[in-house]
Amino acid sequence: MHSPDVTAVFDLPDEAATQRLGEKLATALQPGLVIFLDGDLGAGKTTLARALIRALGHNGPVKSPTYALVEVYVVSSLYLYHFDFYRFESPEEFLDAGFGEYFNDASVCLVEWPEKAAGCVPLPDLRVHLQHSGAARVAELLASSERGASCIKTLTSTIGAGISCATPGRP
Ligand code: ADP
Ligand code: MG
Repeated sequence: MHSPDVTAVFDLPDEAATQRLGEKLATALQPGLVIFLDGDLGAGKTTLARALIRALGHNGPVKSPTYALVEVYVVSSLYLYHFDFYRFESPEEFLDAGFGEYFNDASVCLVEWPEKAAGCVPLPDLRVHLQHSGAARVAELLASSERGASCIKTLTSTIGAGISCATPGRP
């Protein structure tokens, strides 16, 4: 049976708001989740991923995977893989690198530039689409599985659907 799409939109007026969304998302993860982080260069994909990974308890640096393609974290009893396929010249590079096996029921995968591996990377449970809005950003979340929907529901129960993720005390 097709369940209705579950979506949420968050205004992110500053970098701290993007970080806060990443921290909230960290509390809503479950093993097996695949999250696509879409959006232009500089939209805030790595900022959000970095805050999420730190919120899970990782104390060291969180490098952008732009050159390494993947960074691996074992945090909060989760295997978390942070990918960035920006440098792929063809989607088949995903298969050549053997990344398919990283997507399993024990791992959480965060994927920047998933469109560069289209047709090879597994479909996501959740898409986080980040876009510029003047100097600020807007995040649109779209779930495409029960797992993704439950993630958005957990998130909106702590933040509130469609409510700004703004820094308290700022306009
Ligand atoms: P991406 O990974 O999407 O290419 P990055 O996270 O590396 O983007 O860079 C995003 C840039 O935008 C950083 O300089 C960060 O400080 C800034 N930024 C992140 N979120 C916001 C926001 N909500 N409003 C304004 N600037 C932001
Ligand atoms: Mg990035």
